[in-house]
Amino acid sequence: VDLSIYRHGKRNQSSVALTFDDGPNPTRTEEVIDILDQARVRATFFVIGKWVSAFPATMKRLVEAGHVIGNHSDEHRRGVCDFDRARTRIERATGKPSAFLRVPYFAYQPYAPCLEGLNHGTRVIDADVRTQDYLQSDPATIAARVLDHPQLRGGSIIVLHDGSDTAVDRLSRPQPMILALPSIIAGLKQRGLTPVGLDELAFGSPHHVQTSMR
Ligand SMILES: [Zn+2]
Repeated sequence: VDLSIYRHGKRNQSSVALTFDDGPNPTRTEEVIDILDQARVRATFFVIGKWVSAFPATMKRLVEAGHVIGNHSDEHRRGVCDFDRARTRIERATGKPSAFLRVPYFAYQPYAPCLEGLNHGTRVIDADVRTQDYLQSDPATIAARVLDHPQLRGGSIIVLHDGSDTAVDRLSRPQPMILALPSIIAGLKQRGLTPVGLDELAFGSPHHVQTSMR
């Protein structure tokens, strides 16, 4: 199967996309929304379907704040093709289909049986700036890993995490990232980069990933 994915947008723009995975996640997502509001920045949230249904009020705030919503599967289980279930929940919550999808763990091969269908009507979004923010405890390290990342430039897609696929650590895991977020936004702007929603990013040609049916 030949899958088209987008690791970054066109490089001849000053825009970059901040993307947040694994929510909606009260009250951490609300904290992220507040920081984005203060900085007048739009972002994209790749939500997990089960959390969309569990936390409708947080989902509603995301939509009302004008952020872009992307599909990040229904249960976030490796190789489980439940993007359609998530799509239905997202449509119910936002009133429209989501134009963007991100595969859990950026692991394309395990999803080979369902990936062919995914390119119809949705862009599959990878990222060129990954920081493993969810493994860091020091906010300054997270900010530095974004701002000093060798790939960071116009068109970059930055992945951060405002939630978790498990309930146990969903409140603790995003905390260092949230503390780092104001410096990340300020640092991007200092470098002449403007954070936008994925719906405002200009895209060039996709990367191609080959997966095999096994
Ligand atoms: Zn995820």
